[in-house]
Parts: sequence; C-alpha cells; structure tokens
Amino acid sequence: MNYILMGPPGAGKGTQSKKIVEKFGIVHLSTGDMFREAKKSDEVISKLLASGQLVPDEIVVNMAKKRLEKDDVKKGFLLDGFPRTVNQAQELDKMLKSENMKIDAVFFIDVCFEEAVKRISGRRVCSCGASYHVDFIPPKVEGKCDGCNCELIQRNDDKENVVRDRLDVYEKQTRPLIDYYKSTGLLVNIDGLKSESEVFEDIKNAS
Ligand SMILES: [Zn+2]
Repeated sequence: MNYILMGPPGAGKGTQSKKIVEKFGIVHLSTGDMFREAKKSDEVISKLLASGQLVPDEIVVNMAKKRLEKDDVKKGFLLDGFPRTVNQAQELDKMLKSENMKIDAVFFIDVCFEEAVKRISGRRVCSCGASYHVDFIPPKVEGKCDGCNCELIQRNDDKENVVRDRLDVYEKQTRPLIDYYKSTGLLVNIDGLKSESEVFEDIKNAS
C-alpha cells in the first residue's frame, strides 16, 4: 500500500510514521532524509539548503522521482513531507501513473492551531539530549534536567512567535493541498487531539 502522511508541526507525525512503516512493512520516504542524502552529492541542493531558501518545486519533484524509481518502493511506501503543494501533488500523480502505481490513502493528522502552539512552545531540551515539555513531561525541578541537572533551554524554532509563523506558512501552503486530496477522495481526516495510540488505531482502521 502507498500512503501519504500530512499534518502541521506538532501533530506527532514522527511517532506515527514510525508506527505505520513498522506495521505495514513499507518504506518511509521523508523529504528530510532525501534532502540529507541529496546534499552529499548535489551541490545545487547543498547550497540552497545552506542558504535557508525554499527549494523550488522542480528540484523537490525530481528528488522524489529518483527515490520512487528505486526497487524497495515496490513493497509500498509512506510519503512524509512530500507533496507540499498542489503542483507537487499533480506531478506525483503523473509520476505514479507512468509507473502503474497509485496512492491508496492520504492521512491528515489534524491538530488545531492553538494546540499545536502549546505542544511545540512547551518543549524544553537539555544539551545532554534529554527533552521535556512544561505541561506533558515536566522535569522534577522546574527548568533543570533530571539526568544532569543542567539548565533546560527552549530551541529558537520552538519559541511561540516562531511557531505561530511556521503554522501560518503551513496553513497557507497546505490548505489547498488538503482540498485537492479531498476532491480526489483520498483524504482521511485523523483527529490529532487523541492520544498517540488512539491516533494510530484510527490510521489502521482507515487503511
Ligand atoms: Zn541533561
């Protein structure tokens, strides 16, 4: 089976994608991994990523295309981080059609704006690698790591104003894509406010 996983930052996509690929024995195709791989051999992509600029559709599509041509994809895949725009989705459709493949479902883990803000802006990390959340996984002593007693910090990306900007961008970019998959009948809305295991149950039931 071939699936797409979508959801705003804070929706818990990382956890769910691990569960999905394990359960169905399919390959995880994340654009994050693809970019890391491409960076090693492709100077154009490497420069783009280093500059922090948005990578143009054409490059993302080509990268996905190359990945989808590999043999392991035949056993099924979960796309994560791609497509991100309607144009990319249409290119993906063409690509799959020419290979006689198709998408079976698009799981959209829906989390409302304020919940996503709360989940991300509450994250705290320690330089030892431990992570916490002020509401959900609080350290024993406020602001201190349980393991090494160091001062916990909030990543810049997790600061509330930055999170709000990221979510705004996501909303603008992704809403048309959600409508697109709704119109093709592939969209499965998953309530991301439920617990991790309940969310996974809902995904399994819809697959
Ligand atoms: Zn620590």
